[in-house]
Amino acid sequence: MNRRDFLVSAGTGAAVLGRSALAGAFSPPLLRSGRGPRKHWAWLRGDVKSLDDWRRSLAGMKAAGIDAVLIGGNAEFYRRAAPAAAAEGVELHAWIFTMMRGEHVKTHPDWYAVSRSGVSTAAKPPYVDYYRFMCPSRDEVRQWLSGFVRGLAAIDGLASVHLDYIRYPDVILPVALWPKYNLVQDREYPEFDFCYCAVCRDRFKRASGLDPLQLADPPSHRAWRQYRYDTITEIVGLIAQEVHAQKKLVTAAVFPTPTIARTLVRQEWATWKVDAVLPMVYHGFYKEEVPWVERATREGVAALAGRIPLFSGLYVPDLPPADLARAARFAMAGGADGICLFQGNTLTPDHWRALTPVLAEKGGA
Ligand SMILES: [Zn+2]
Repeated sequence: MNRRDFLVSAGTGAAVLGRSALAGAFSPPLLRSGRGPRKHWAWLRGDVKSLDDWRRSLAGMKAAGIDAVLIGGNAEFYRRAAPAAAAEGVELHAWIFTMMRGEHVKTHPDWYAVSRSGVSTAAKPPYVDYYRFMCPSRDEVRQWLSGFVRGLAAIDGLASVHLDYIRYPDVILPVALWPKYNLVQDREYPEFDFCYCAVCRDRFKRASGLDPLQLADPPSHRAWRQYRYDTITEIVGLIAQEVHAQKKLVTAAVFPTPTIARTLVRQEWATWKVDAVLPMVYHGFYKEEVPWVERATREGVAALAGRIPLFSGLYVPDLPPADLARAARFAMAGGADGICLFQGNTLTPDHWRALTPVLAEKGGA
C-alpha cells in the first residue's frame, strides 16, 4: 500500500474485525533500553473496520516509524488482530483500564473506593460519571484483576498487558483541567482523597496503630501516603506475577514524572515491577511549553536509573505538526527510548509528514 492509503485508512470508523485466515508465530521481543535503535509506539482506539483495514493501518504506521501499538479489546479481538500485527512486524499490546472499572458496581458495590468524605465511587464518582475506581486493598479486587490479566496473557501474539488507570483517582487534577471542573485544588480536598473504606482503614490500623480518618491532617501523614503508594505497587506486582508466568511483558501508562505521579495519583512508578513505562508527558495538562517534555522525561529516566526503558507519551491534540516533531526530539534528548502517540489514529497527514523523519532517526544513547 502507499502512504496515501494509510493516511486515509488510519482515521476510519468503528466495526468488528473479520475472521482471519492468517496464522503467525510471534514471540515478544525484549524491550530496548538506552542503547541501540529506538522504538516508537501508538495508543490506538479500537475502531478497526476489518482485518484488511487493520493490516493497512499497521503497515502504514510501520512505514512511518511506529513499531508497537496498544489497543483495547476483548480476547476475541486480540486473537484475530494478533496474527495480522505479527505479519506486519508490529508488536501488539493489550491496553487495559486497571483500577477504573465500572462493571462491578451492581454486583460488588463494596469493591469500590471510598473518599475521605465517606462517598463511594460506586455511588457518586468524582469529576465524571465513569470515574469508578476499585479499592486496591481488597482481596476480591486483587483476585479479580489477577484472573482478568491471566486470561489476557494467555493469548498468543500479545507482547504485553499494558496497564492504564493503575492508580487512585486524581486527588489533585492536572492544573489545566481545574477550570473545566470549576475547581481550585490547592490542597487535597476530602471528596477527591481515596480510599477510606473499612478494609483500607483496618489494614493501615493493623500496620500503624492509626485510623486514617482520625489523623489530624491525613494528606500530610507520611505513612498514610506511603500506604497508598504501596497498595498500587502491590497490585502491579500481582499482575506482573500472572503475566510474567505466561512469558508476556507488563507495561504501564503513568503520570508524567515520578513527583507528579506521587502527588496527583499516588503512583510510585519508578519502583514498579514492570518491563517498561510510558509516562504521559502531556505538557498542556500542566500549562507547560513543549521543551518541558525533555525535562519531564529526564526526571523519569533518572529515577529508573537504567532499570527499564521509558517511552514518552505525547498528547497529539496539543501538538500541531511542527510541535509534534519538536516534542519527539525533546523526548529523545531527555533520554527516552522512544515515543508513544496519543492517539495514533488522530494524526493528520501533516503530522505524519513532520514526525516521520524524526522517527527515522534511530539513534541510541
Ligand atoms: Zn479501600
